[in-house]
Amino acid sequence: VSESIKEEIRTLLDDIPELKSKYQILNKTGEGTFSSVYKALRIDEERKRKERIKKKKENKYYAKKIKGKKYYALKRIYATSSPQRIENEISILHDLRKKSNIVSIYGCVRYEDQVILVLPYIQHNDFRNYFNTMTMNDIRYYMISILTALKHCHELYIMHRDIKPSNFLYDVKNRTGVLVDFGLAQRMDEAAIKSSKVNKRISHINNSNNKRPLIESNNNINSESFNNKKLKTTIRANRAGTRGFRAPEVLFKCVHQTVAIDVWSVGVILLSIFSQRFPFFNSNDDYEALLELGCIFGRKKMKYVAYMLERTYETNIPSIQEKPLTFKELVYNLNPDMYIPNEGFDFLSRLLTLDPKTRITAKDALKHPFLVNFDK
Ligand code: ADP
Ligand code: MG
Repeated sequence: VSESIKEEIRTLLDDIPELKSKYQILNKTGEGTFSSVYKALRIDEERKRKERIKKKKENKYYAKKIKGKKYYALKRIYATSSPQRIENEISILHDLRKKSNIVSIYGCVRYEDQVILVLPYIQHNDFRNYFNTMTMNDIRYYMISILTALKHCHELYIMHRDIKPSNFLYDVKNRTGVLVDFGLAQRMDEAAIKSSKVNKRISHINNSNNKRPLIESNNNINSESFNNKKLKTTIRANRAGTRGFRAPEVLFKCVHQTVAIDVWSVGVILLSIFSQRFPFFNSNDDYEALLELGCIFGRKKMKYVAYMLERTYETNIPSIQEKPLTFKELVYNLNPDMYIPNEGFDFLSRLLTLDPKTRITAKDALKHPFLVNFDK
């Protein structure tokens, strides 16, 4: 542990008296935009464990079981986060706490404006160290884990909104992963739930009769206003998430977004793994990101999905062709060495379907032949 981290841990313990009496902080395990995360042991549990080890040494008939060390992750949310945001993260974690492949929450510690979430420590590897050496079955287990987590979220109409490798802690050896970081997660609004249930053909007819979008103000931290001249209204849409993983409907600033945005991000991860390029997309802003999508999907499909989302897509960049490469051509151009079965490409194209209404759901993705028919 470096001196600067030791110093950071000392300040943390000094800042929050309750932590000092309860936890022994071992190391810093991660840092995100909104928090720092530390690996810790509980002082009382460790004391008990040591007593038992001592007793067992003295008496070989000592019956109590001696478990391994139990590690915790203490997530310190920066005080700049609003209380509403923190409350939202805790409440969503609480609702999901018993679901498989989703991090549970044991509790939290608050002292003045400091909030610490107490989570189980999740053993994991860094994505950059394994994404280019995964076998086809490794890829399948990764996909099954992350889609199972999303199925649980989406059943409760919870959008994670920030699906990316650093928020999905995957253990390569045990072939299992846990979804973390519900800091941007959001419950779908009633209108979005309703419209997501409507048959896509009917909703298409309705949309074409009603070209004016609902104007909605929401107070998401990452939302921004955007002036669409054609509609002469200001659209405030949630743009939370991470560049490169944002779904087309987020880039197009649609107001009623659905859980389908998370499925798109899983598709981006799979595209990274198949092509062995991480990060795959690398834009500076949402407009550039839409151009990147144009390079892959072609002008025609982009224009069509823009129309479906009540937007327009215009560009005079010649590299954005009418008709683009297939995923198979794209992936093999970038990574000719990997053999991927055709079901793999079909699976990828269903996750990366531009239109959120026809994109596969997490539940159905788990039943896709690529994840079901294989030799374990
Ligand atoms: P942020 O909102 O700041 O991105 P995260 O919840 O994503 O916060 O945590 C930041 C990083 O800390 C993660 O990318 C991961 O590396 C590490 N981390 C978070 N939770 C855990 C956990 N339960 N166990 C182990 N490491 C964790
Ligand atoms: Mg994170």
